[in-house]
Amino acid sequence: MQDKLFINGAFVPAASGAMFDVVDPANRQVFHQVARGGAEDIDAAVKGARKAFDDGPWPRLSGAERGAILRKMGDLITERRETLARLEVRDNGKPLPEALWDIDDAAGCFHFYADLAETLTGAGEAVALPMETFIAEVVKEPVGVAGAIIPWNFPMLMAAWKVAPALAAGCAMVLKPSELTPLTALELGVIAQDAGLPAGVLNIVTGTGPEAGQPLTEHPGVDKLAFTGSVPTGSKIMQTAAKNIKTVSLELGGKSPLVIFADTPIEEALEWILFGIFWNQGEVCSATSRVLVEDAIYEPLLQRLAEESRKIKIGHGMEDGTLLGPLVSESQHRKVLQWIETGKREARLVAGGGVPEGLEAGCFVEPTIFADMEESATIWSEEIFGPVVCVKSFTSEAEAIRMANASRFGLAAAVMSVDLARANRVARAFRAGIVWINCSQPTFTQAPWGGYKQSGIGRELGIWGLNNYLETKQITTYDRSAPWGWYLKG
Ligand code: NAD
Repeated sequence: MQDKLFINGAFVPAASGAMFDVVDPANRQVFHQVARGGAEDIDAAVKGARKAFDDGPWPRLSGAERGAILRKMGDLITERRETLARLEVRDNGKPLPEALWDIDDAAGCFHFYADLAETLTGAGEAVALPMETFIAEVVKEPVGVAGAIIPWNFPMLMAAWKVAPALAAGCAMVLKPSELTPLTALELGVIAQDAGLPAGVLNIVTGTGPEAGQPLTEHPGVDKLAFTGSVPTGSKIMQTAAKNIKTVSLELGGKSPLVIFADTPIEEALEWILFGIFWNQGEVCSATSRVLVEDAIYEPLLQRLAEESRKIKIGHGMEDGTLLGPLVSESQHRKVLQWIETGKREARLVAGGGVPEGLEAGCFVEPTIFADMEESATIWSEEIFGPVVCVKSFTSEAEAIRMANASRFGLAAAVMSVDLARANRVARAFRAGIVWINCSQPTFTQAPWGGYKQSGIGRELGIWGLNNYLETKQITTYDRSAPWGWYLKG
């Protein structure tokens, strides 16, 4: 396990020599310590990235050459998938099969952007102009040095979503992983070294938000910030970035609705409701945490949901059959249990609602279902970020759409119905960036990811993710064979 910062191609201790604890949420035990980076380390990392970008080979390589190194990084992630997945389980708590999905998706992300890098040939695209004496073309160039700040819920995958497109574009990057889950990000440093990535192109500084994240957002050497995390932190980052006009892309929180029409086969509905909120312990930005059920099937569906949720195996992420691991940390555990207490005042508790018996040593919470809350209830409107789902009934399509959209968030939304015309109508009416029909949560590297309203700005993944790290330049040429001198000669 790495314990140092990755700066300028080498693993180094924090300038202050300080370390912080890494805790296993399944037993609350400290099992490792990692360097506690601060402003001085961020400055060294940004300077390293600046040099790699301004003077180094990386942005000047062909897209195909960069692609070859990214492909190698993807291959090495695949080769080390078991080790990386086990680290993720220990650090985050998630069940091993889900950690393996994350690692495989992270490798897939590097492979995808390796292919896209090859399309960056430097060739310009012609722009039609209204005057024949000028010709114009557009070229795409890397933005420069990008700062990336990521959360703890999908540590390796969130790193891949930012590092792979940034590097494909030709940028250099400073990555600040969450202080709760620093381990797989540091392994990415080892992978970068082993794949032959030039020194300084990728730098990784572990540390807290205020001590390492804030100096990264303030640093004048950073051209672009890419952030995934909560709305309050996203807002702070945007305000800081405004001071020296950095471009910012934000992937923030959500309270995503799942609308179930009465014609949906009940077993299908159960599958997607439960997966939509309980996978990854509900610590998922796009979790469908508000379920709207057409009144004809409301009570029978609630009853089946309660029965099925009680069968979900809660336990250590390494135990066979575990579907729900511990929450990431003591503070997240406390926060979710407080939300559950609020829920008990605001709604009918249908299932769960506490710490599972025998698992008090870890940060475990039962899968919890609330029903019948008012639309004004805080558990209906606020992101809980845990295994807690709120269910309400509706009587008409129009009411379902109105309630689904009545949120300050707009990350994802889902609808289930065998009537595909209706499902498509509702899908188009949702004010959300990611919409699923007859499912919830599938995420593909090829498709755009991001939210409307307070769920963020910009899109990651696919070609949209690459464009986050590219500048657009116009080059306009005058045809010297045409008459000229119109300014001085009049
Ligand atoms: P958070 O905002 O607390 O922290 C995210 C990151 O920001 C961490 O690395 C943290 O150290 C850093 N940070 C904190 N304060 C900072 C500051 N002042 N300046 C710079 N950096 C700072 O979020 P979290 O608790 O780690 O993650 C949960 C949130 O992330 C949820 O709201 C969830 O919905 C959201 N999320 C969104 C997506 C998406 O794609 N939209 C994906 C995953 C998580």
